[in-house]
Order: sequence, then C-alpha cells, then structure tokens
Amino acid sequence: MKAPLIFEIKGNSLDDGAGIRSVVFFKGCPLACIWCHNPEGMRTGVEIAFDQRECIGCNTCIETCLQHALARDNPFFIDRQRCTLCFLCTEACPSGALDRVGREMTKEAILEKVLKDKPFYDTSGGGVTLSGGEPTLYMDSVSALLQALKTHGIHCLLETCGQFDLERFTTLVYPYLDAIYYDIKLFDPEEHKRFCGVTNATILANFVELIELTRADGKEFLPRVPLVPNITDSDANLGAIAAFLQSHRVTKAKLLPYNPLWPEKSSKVGIGTDSLDASMKKWMGSEKIKHCESIFREHDLDV
Ligand code: SF4
Ligand code: SF4
Repeated sequence: MKAPLIFEIKGNSLDDGAGIRSVVFFKGCPLACIWCHNPEGMRTGVEIAFDQRECIGCNTCIETCLQHALARDNPFFIDRQRCTLCFLCTEACPSGALDRVGREMTKEAILEKVLKDKPFYDTSGGGVTLSGGEPTLYMDSVSALLQALKTHGIHCLLETCGQFDLERFTTLVYPYLDAIYYDIKLFDPEEHKRFCGVTNATILANFVELIELTRADGKEFLPRVPLVPNITDSDANLGAIAAFLQSHRVTKAKLLPYNPLWPEKSSKVGIGTDSLDASMKKWMGSEKIKHCESIFREHDLDV
C-alpha cells in the first residue's frame, strides 16, 4: 500500500472537533475551490514553498540550485517549470524560508506522532482529525490508519469535501469513524463547477446517504458551509443550502467565517491571487456573519 502524502500534522488543535486534537492534513484534493484556505494541500504531489517574510536574502539557495530555478525578478521567486524538486535549496536555506510541502508517511510514522498526545485526547474528550486536502483520496491508507487509531481507543473525525466513491467510503473508511464534518459550499451545480472545479452532484448525493447512515448509527455528522464574500455568502445560496438541510431533517450546521489569510499562503506555492476583488482581502464583518446565521435559523438550524 502506497503511503499517503501528508503536508502537516498539527497538535493541540481546538478548532477541528471536540476537545484537544491532532489534525493530520492529507495532500491533494478533487476540488479546486478558488478560496481554498489550505492551498498548499490542493495539489497531489510534493511541492516547494517560499515564504518571503522568512527570507534573510543570503542568496545561498540561488547559488545552490543547479537548475537556475530561483531568481529575485520572479514574483514567486521559484520557476516551477525549471524546478526538479531536488530540495537542495531547502536543505541549504538557513532561515526556513524555502520548505518542502508534502512527505509520504507510513501508518506507523503517523501513529508515532499522534499517539504522543493521547493523554491530552483522553482528558479533554478529543482525538484525531483527518483533514486536508481530502483524506478520502487515500481510502486504503486512511482505512488502515483509522483501524489502528481505534485499537488505541482514539476518537476519529473526518473533515471532507464529500467528493468520493460512496461504496468504497462506506466499506473502507466509514466503519472506523466517530464523526464526519461535511462541507457544502454552493448549491447551484454550475456555480459549484465554476468556483470549485466540479459540479456538486456527487457531494449532495453522498450527503443524502450519509445523513441517514450516521443518524441510524448514532454518529456525529455536521454539515459546514464556508462563508466566502460574493461567492457562497449570497442569500440565495445560503437559503438553498439551509432549505436542503432542513428537508433532510438536519437541525445543526456550522458556518465557517471567511479567513482572508489564504492568498498569502497561495503565493508561497506559486498560485497567483492578483485578480481577487477587495472584499476577499479582508475579514468578514460581524453584521454580515449574523445575517448569514439568521438565514439558517429561519430554517430551524442551530448554527
Ligand atoms: S528544489 Fe532543486 S531544482 Fe527546485 S529550486 Fe530548489 S534547488 Fe532548484
Ligand atoms: S537560502 Fe533561504 S534565506 Fe537565503 S536567500 Fe534563499 S530563501 Fe532566502
């Protein structure tokens, strides 16, 4: 079994499920949401990242690179057509400004890292969250990891975009999960395709099956909706999603307030964001968030 590509394992998280958790971020995603707040996790494959703020200007990397892929007059610093991902520059960089994104990690290596924090999970009601990217790109490895975590009595939560083969998911992954956080971004299929790269047909169909399955099994299933200015935060989109959830007897959902820090993360991995409109470069106001919440409450949803 091929080891999955992991781009981060974050300990002591209080934002990704109940209690204190470790979050394992899997690299690669079947969607391509233009506002992805983990852009370093979107592409399948190892990458190199450059953080301008960390660079001390020593030029060691430029002298090290045999491909001449690094240049100050490149707005992203790295020419990704030339770069062969040899990582000589990341090893030579004294400041950590250049970094490798994504490492293959075996089940044993992931376990070794997350089991260190088991006492915190036990005392706080926490556990391990699989996130990304999209963990279900690695169904077999995720299945093996979850089974190992369950033998240690650890609460397992999956954060997912819902774009996966349901039969494989219910066989390989679902049995070992305690909770699922399931993102719904746009209700209109064409809008979904425009902003996320694919239609939402599979996502909504999987949602309908999983809401019933988790209800029958007593597992937590929490729909989440990211609030993105002028894309997902319209009354029409939020109203359509809220009505859909209500029609499936959902009583609780989570709205994810917009985080404008992702463009900076995008530029580190060479994704340009110059064409963004001004509303996407600032935090969403509390009045707007309250208005979005009110749309869900009108549909009897606790948010
Ligand atoms: S990873 Fe290798 S080829 Fe790419 S920029 Fe660094 S030294 Fe050059
Ligand atoms: S080696 Fe690191 S600190 Fe030095 S110029 Fe390159 S990126 Fe900047």
